[in-house]
Amino acid sequence: MSIILITGVSSGIGKATAIKFAQQGWDVIITARRKDRLHQIASEIKSVTGSSALPLDFDVQNRNETEQRLNSIPENWKSIDVLLNNAGLARGISAIQDGDIEDWETMIDTNIKGLLYVSKVIMPWMIERKKGHIINLSSVAGKEVYPGGNVYCATKHAVDAINKAMRMDLLEYGIKVTSVNPGMTDTEFSLVRFKGDSGRAHRAYSGYEPLHADDVAEVIYFAATRPSHVCLNEIILTPTAQANAILPIKRTL
Ligand code: NDP
Repeated sequence: MSIILITGVSSGIGKATAIKFAQQGWDVIITARRKDRLHQIASEIKSVTGSSALPLDFDVQNRNETEQRLNSIPENWKSIDVLLNNAGLARGISAIQDGDIEDWETMIDTNIKGLLYVSKVIMPWMIERKKGHIINLSSVAGKEVYPGGNVYCATKHAVDAINKAMRMDLLEYGIKVTSVNPGMTDTEFSLVRFKGDSGRAHRAYSGYEPLHADDVAEVIYFAATRPSHVCLNEIILTPTAQANAILPIKRTL
């Protein structure tokens, strides 16, 4: 039985990926802050797919909580085959000179420090087994900077650098490392970025067909299931209407 640990499973890409892996018979450890949603998703996974789901609610920004919750995983769940570092967010889209420092700190603490706190607990378990795969959810924002993207783009560029560093440093242990870099994906991402302004969030995905969370989950599943001698180091996927992070979306609908 294979095990995947996914952060940020209470919505979007993380939720779709947990369901995808569970449908294929994987056991899933699912994490996020919103406990009610997480437990509901765990029940759905168990009843619909028959796979086991272990929900762990914690805030990846909190180092102590992250370490305690992950170290509390029962021994029979600790043989983690794939870690998907997915929890992340953007807050605001102001020019840098108008940026909100609290928003900057939230993005840095979640997207960079949270990813490192989680990985620091799990990497030794993979090293001991000389086996494992870390998949880091970066973004096209980790490849290019766009107007108003400033600190969010910086955090995803950091994920890109961490991904490359992990690939080199974990090489001798046979651990695979992959970055998945999506473009516009219709999740709760824009609702969070625009702080609950659902009209603005909706407009981000209207007039063209964005990626759906399932599209990204498919790609993650493909990356995780290559033969043991094959590692996809990085993957960039966008909607057909989006060439990269800078050009405006081509509105087609
Ligand atoms: P969603 O907002 O739908 O999901 C984000 C998930 O991250 C939620 O489950 C949320 O759970 C979790 N999360 C956020 N902050 C924390 C925290 N401090 N501690 C624990 N969990 C946290 O967005 P997406 O599914 O789109 O985002 C997933 C990843 O994909 C992110 O890293 C994002 O940057 C990246 N991405 C998204 C793109 C898009 O267009 N949607 C494009 C490129 C990359 P909870 O709030 O319950 O804690």
